[in-house]
Amino acid sequence: MELGSSALHDHLNEKCGIFGVFAPGEDVARLTFFGLHALQHRGQESAGIATTDGKRLNLYADMGLVSQVFTEDALAALPGRAAIGHTRYSTTGSSTRGNAQPFHLKGMHGEMAIAHNGNVVNADVLRSDLASTGTMFDTSSDTEVIGRLLIDGPGEDWPERFGQLMRRANGAYSLTILTHDAVYAVRDPLGIRPLCIGRLNGQGWVFASETCALDHLGAEYIRDVRPGEVVRADGEGLTSFFPLSAEDGGMPGQTTDQDQALCLFEFIYFARPDSRISGQLLHPARMRMGARLSEEHPVEADVVIGVPDSATAAAIGYAQASGIPYAEGLVKNRYVGRTFIQPDQRLRDRGVQLKFNPLREVLAGKRVVVVDDSIVRGTTTPRVVKMIRDAGATEVHMRMASPPITHPCFYGVDMATRGELIAANLSVDEIRDHIGADTLGYLSIEGTVWAANIGEGQHCTACFTGKYPSAVPLQFDKFALEGGSEVPDHEIPMARTEPVVVPLTLR
Ligand code: AMP
Repeated sequence: MELGSSALHDHLNEKCGIFGVFAPGEDVARLTFFGLHALQHRGQESAGIATTDGKRLNLYADMGLVSQVFTEDALAALPGRAAIGHTRYSTTGSSTRGNAQPFHLKGMHGEMAIAHNGNVVNADVLRSDLASTGTMFDTSSDTEVIGRLLIDGPGEDWPERFGQLMRRANGAYSLTILTHDAVYAVRDPLGIRPLCIGRLNGQGWVFASETCALDHLGAEYIRDVRPGEVVRADGEGLTSFFPLSAEDGGMPGQTTDQDQALCLFEFIYFARPDSRISGQLLHPARMRMGARLSEEHPVEADVVIGVPDSATAAAIGYAQASGIPYAEGLVKNRYVGRTFIQPDQRLRDRGVQLKFNPLREVLAGKRVVVVDDSIVRGTTTPRVVKMIRDAGATEVHMRMASPPITHPCFYGVDMATRGELIAANLSVDEIRDHIGADTLGYLSIEGTVWAANIGEGQHCTACFTGKYPSAVPLQFDKFALEGGSEVPDHEIPMARTEPVVVPLTLR
């Protein structure tokens, strides 16, 4: 994201997909293209691929969808035996070619390309520290700060510099990194964003934000990269180490003693339903959310529909558990919002109708339960409710497969500031009136955690609870201190500790 306090008032918008592959003899650029294609839902603004043949790094990145950015010619100019890739999402403000990743960085420790999913909360502090010792920056991105720490920062070797990164950076960073001889896959010590490892054709290795990318390539899922782990794929195979020792005490600014803080919103909205995170396939997890929602907020109705695509599984779960028939009531144009052609004012006024088309035959004369995954600002939902009423529904019962979102995300999900979050400012009854529904019910936090099924204390619930797993700069948000985490004045130790090297167990 852009650095500086003003950015905290802008959209936090780094929902991204990352990929990496080490596979000598394969067309690694093409594999990365298809990996990114499978991760397109995580970001539609820009796409990029970096490759290496062992001698030099090649990079191509531009604004647009993966399929718009890469032509056969572009892929042909990316030879190599290893590659990384990135798809980036962003709203207004930072929509520039210069922010398209991967970034290519040269420094005193050599050369690398880096792709990042997440957001580092204290990047501006780290940047000033590095700048004060002479490091030059090309962008205002937190990804470059991470990259500069690794390529220009203190520490003689990679393990030591990864240790410095993990000791100093507070926030979310799943990374793929390309050097001349290796691909690294890294997750921050709290494991906020996902990242997984796959085996390709029995000889290569792939890393991806979500397992759906492995499935499309025919790669075998091995396991997730663990929180605080660095996995290295090179000519010798796969090795892994945890740069922080137990004495390091977790992530800088960590506010709880939990050892993981996987983003619960990945389960609710973000990731694809055919992806597996922390061992859980998301489609059934979302069905459980819907089933639990029907227990917590039952209603008499004729039909259950979902707001496509993210709430479809939850709607099916609601219908099955309640016994009310499920039907498709809204058809989504999947390509809306994924084009550079901006609608003119007349079309913009039609708002949500550019995105959804209601099926009048399903809705007319019916009492309709509408399941959606979440309400963020409350801009779209009233239009959806109106559209369903206009199509003839006699009652509209909105059911949300997540708790009210009351706090902003500092770890990389595109949400709003606290002032813009409708549930931070209005009660459930007031939101019901605002969206124009007959009734409104939200899934409880206990129900959401139960449905995700990844264990107590293993996830970040900050957007629902204000309990951030690390210190966040809440002083920039005038609403946030009620119920939010304090910001401890933490000193981040710089002492070197030996990395803990563990062998990877591979099938
Ligand atoms: P709104 O009523 O404007 O808050 O919009 C609610 C819709 O936004 C729901 O259908 C969600 O699926 C969708 N949504 C939730 N989170 C996000 C996000 N981070 N980016 C884009 N859309 C989202």
